[in-house]
Amino acid sequence: MRALILSDIHANLEALEAVLAAAPAHDVVWNLGDVVGYGASPNEVIDRVRALGSMFVRGNHDRVCSGLPGIDDFNPIAGRAARWTQCVLSAEHIAWLRQLATGPMMPDGLHVACTHGSPLDEDAYILSMRDAWQPLAKVQTRINFFGHTHLQGGFATNGEEWFKLVPDYATHHEAEEYEIQLRDGVRYLLNPGSVGQPRDGDWRPAFALYDDARRTVGFYRVPYDVRLAQMRIVRAGLPDRLATRLRDGR
Ligand code: ZN
Repeated sequence: MRALILSDIHANLEALEAVLAAAPAHDVVWNLGDVVGYGASPNEVIDRVRALGSMFVRGNHDRVCSGLPGIDDFNPIAGRAARWTQCVLSAEHIAWLRQLATGPMMPDGLHVACTHGSPLDEDAYILSMRDAWQPLAKVQTRINFFGHTHLQGGFATNGEEWFKLVPDYATHHEAEEYEIQLRDGVRYLLNPGSVGQPRDGDWRPAFALYDDARRTVGFYRVPYDVRLAQMRIVRAGLPDRLATRLRDGR
């Protein structure tokens, strides 16, 4: 069983199309939330991901952009983008976002859990080992995928030692893969990175592939038409910062 894992697409259609074109063969798609918010193509992106038949976990932007609580916790730019998204979303897409389930979600028959933020709190960011320590100590599942931080990589422990996992890429402009072998007795928190708004200093859309039989997780980066995504943001009247940050990967 091979699962394509997508997170934090954030209404960036150009990035999503590049990821789907480059994705290796897979049986299912797991989506870790924040399908919308920030980017200029929320309706198009929802149509595209729904057609993939993904398993979906709700993200905080999915919640807020569909009018559910949380906008007061957003910074001014995120709040402006959420209000814009709410105005342009079709009624059907708003209804779809509202029915998305809060994580953790467990794909059938696998010892895997999927969440948006922390397994302990959908709004909590796991940015450091300090943030990862409590969820890794408390979760029952060995392999845990999460998003929300827009940072590709993760954290792991065998109960004694603690590891930070950061994919090591050779370039900043080509399509690349970085694979890790999952080890027995180790518990993992793994982030596929953000498709539509990476923040790890690498502008390339990020995603991951979980291979149950080979016991591997592949991390990927692919180039895309970032200028087109930026142009759509500017033309939509969304804050300029949402366009410039795409090229910086911040
Ligand atoms: Zn996000």
